[in-house]
Amino acid sequence: MNKPQILIVEDDNAVANLISATLKTQDYAYKRAATGAGAVMEALSCKPDVVLLDLGLPDMDGVEIIKKIRSWSNMPIIVVSARSEDFDKVSALDAGADDYLTKPFSVEELLARIRVTKRRLLAIQSTNKSESVFVNGNLKIDYGAGCAYLSGEELHLTPIEYKLLCLLSKNVGKVLTHTFITQKIWGAAWESNVASLRVFMATLRKKIEPSADSPQYIQTHVGIGYRMIKIDD
Ligand code: CA
Repeated sequence: MNKPQILIVEDDNAVANLISATLKTQDYAYKRAATGAGAVMEALSCKPDVVLLDLGLPDMDGVEIIKKIRSWSNMPIIVVSARSEDFDKVSALDAGADDYLTKPFSVEELLARIRVTKRRLLAIQSTNKSESVFVNGNLKIDYGAGCAYLSGEELHLTPIEYKLLCLLSKNVGKVLTHTFITQKIWGAAWESNVASLRVFMATLRKKIEPSADSPQYIQTHVGIGYRMIKIDD
């Protein structure tokens, strides 16, 4: 197999050097771009396995780059941003980014995010192959039959809980924003729907999480959204 190719989009040379050096030690291949236009060109020509994208670039806003790439590709995009405001993360995720890292971050954190993103791709590819059954840890969803199971026992879910579980599972490993989820479930992202989402998420978790204090399947990103964690086999 070829080395996984990572596209580093970063206008700060010191940060780009640090990331490239880290990737090199882990046997990843990489390309670099320091502008938005360069990033879009590299994404088109070298078809990277993962894009690490700085949001603040001299010529283009990172969110615009995500929208451009998403118009023709589903390649994983991890936003690497100095902006700590939730608003930026939310607009990047809504535009189609897969995950985010806030600067300053540790090398371990960066590598962990890349691994999660790669696992997510593999999980999606294998789900497509076996078509209608999703398995993650002790959780199993038979999309065709419309049933979900935990450790072999059928879960008794309400239609909305089931819809939520399917949506999270089909995007396993990816942070889904409140806006994205409420739009998919109710067709609109009203503030009242975000409140309902919290309620349904709580009831769903009661049914699938072994312990309320340390959730295994669904992670909360405060002020942003939720993610289903891919559990290692
Ligand atoms: Ca920058």
